[in-house]
Amino acid sequence: MNYYPDDIIEEVRLNNDLVEVVSEYLHLEKKGGSYFGLCPFHREKTPSFSVEPVKQFYYCFGCNNGGNVFHFIMHIENLDFMEALRFLADRAGIALPEPDDNEQQHKNKLRKSILEVNREAARFFYANLAGKTGQMAQQYLFQRGLSLQTIRRFGLGLSPDDWSVLARALRSKGYDEETLIASGLCVRNKNGSLNDRFRNRIMFPIFDLRGNIVAFGGRVMDNSTPKYVNSPETLCYSKSRELFGMHLARKSTEKRLLIVEGYMDVISLHQAGIDYAVASLGTALTNMQGRILKKYADEIIMCYDTDTAGRKATDRGLEILSQLGCRVKVLQVPDAKDPDEYIRKNGPEKFKNLVDRAISLLEYKIRQLKMSFPADSAEGKLAFLNGVADLLVEQENIMEREMVMKTISRDYDITIDTLQAEVARRLNQKKRKDKNREFDNAVRKMTGSVRSYTIHKKEGQREQNELYLITLLSRENYLYPKAAERYPVSCYTEGDIREMARVLYQRLSDGHDFLLHEYITKLDPEKASIIVACSQEFCNYDEAVKAFEDILQKLETIKLSDELKDIQTQMKNISDEEERKQLANRLNDITQKIANLRHAPFK
Ligand SMILES: [Zn+2]
Repeated sequence: MNYYPDDIIEEVRLNNDLVEVVSEYLHLEKKGGSYFGLCPFHREKTPSFSVEPVKQFYYCFGCNNGGNVFHFIMHIENLDFMEALRFLADRAGIALPEPDDNEQQHKNKLRKSILEVNREAARFFYANLAGKTGQMAQQYLFQRGLSLQTIRRFGLGLSPDDWSVLARALRSKGYDEETLIASGLCVRNKNGSLNDRFRNRIMFPIFDLRGNIVAFGGRVMDNSTPKYVNSPETLCYSKSRELFGMHLARKSTEKRLLIVEGYMDVISLHQAGIDYAVASLGTALTNMQGRILKKYADEIIMCYDTDTAGRKATDRGLEILSQLGCRVKVLQVPDAKDPDEYIRKNGPEKFKNLVDRAISLLEYKIRQLKMSFPADSAEGKLAFLNGVADLLVEQENIMEREMVMKTISRDYDITIDTLQAEVARRLNQKKRKDKNREFDNAVRKMTGSVRSYTIHKKEGQREQNELYLITLLSRENYLYPKAAERYPVSCYTEGDIREMARVLYQRLSDGHDFLLHEYITKLDPEKASIIVACSQEFCNYDEAVKAFEDILQKLETIKLSDELKDIQTQMKNISDEEERKQLANRLNDITQKIANLRHAPFK
């Protein structure tokens, strides 16, 4: 449901150029009038995701996902329409007015209160750490090597060893129960009163980019479990979006970012002078986090733990980051389980050296291959070399390719010529494939679709032609009077299509434009995809008038054929001779009409 007026929604759309927005998620290349990239919604090796800069549509030829900037954000950020609208308004710096809707107003107010109460809670936790009861916790933090300055800088605190002291303190400051629960600071217990979520834990406030405290992480000081308790997702906090330490790291003068796993890693790195460290909250890096990282840094270094979970998270993160077009490196910390431990053992300078020696993505992948295929057998060696050749084909930097080949030829006792020949062979193969694909795309562009997709098969002939007509009319407004006469709104298939036709006809008869890319904002993503597919693939007409005639003829024929079937059914059940005659006459009429239509020039 839309709580905002249409012109504001449209303003938000116009201020978020689709090419720019999509580029924040994936690497786009210009080909002809469109942009192509690897689809973020399905796995693919060759780009079939297209963005139309003029129409402001995106469409994937592989998975048929399509729409405008709102649908794109809804899909990729997993948001509903209102959230996507807010997201894009924020992005464009447009202040949304207070919505008319009460529920929405209430949500906005609650969001503000949550941020306030979080700040209040952080003060409370800090005071508790600095006070008498916090002495043990202070000792603990000092022992872990943190200075007082660092503790203040990150706003660390201590939650009291009590069931409800925070809840009581915040209630006395005037915050209501709803806010306390909505913030995640408190939970309602069986008796109906409030308990504190965090008890006797070191508290790490999580700041958003603007410096608001949106959540907390709480860590125990001994070996009890769970080691960490974190705020739940709230109106202000989504863990897939925030990065711990980002509000500080974004101000770093280094144009790079180091991603680590834990809060303590970030804090001790910053203390060691590496002020560009951040942590993803939860092990796996998300698309959204990758996008933020890309916005603030030219180079991103991944430094996750080296256990199995950490390696998996590294692979996933690398995939996300390289799909976004980031320059990525990998840092593997030797002889320590994480950066925090390494720095405590070896000092900050040694760690800085490690950062400078972080390996490239290619080198990292080769190391992974080496682990999977030990060189102690001929098969292992061959599998390894084949894997390397695959990697080198994808490597665009010729110098790096050359360097790798040299090392491999030395280590694996194979001539560099052989390696080069194999890589060249695969490169040629790849080029041929790319050429074919480009050719297919070009054909598709010139002729409309040559393939048919499941999504369109679901629509009948009639629905499909109605969608063509709508698409065509939205482009060629002058055809409207004729369309209204020959195929009025009441002819359209009931439901969304008729509703869309109704709006279209209304706008055109009032002398307004009907912009398809504006209208599809109102459609759910699945229907938007159908419309975009139709406009991208099926309606590349050179001659609009001829196309218009064709479509109308088809629709009229379909309509008449339906009538024909109706009459035939009726005739079976009629005994009255006079009525029968009448029906027979109409049948003749219709048959004649259909024949006439067939004789008209038909595409
Ligand atoms: Zn796709």
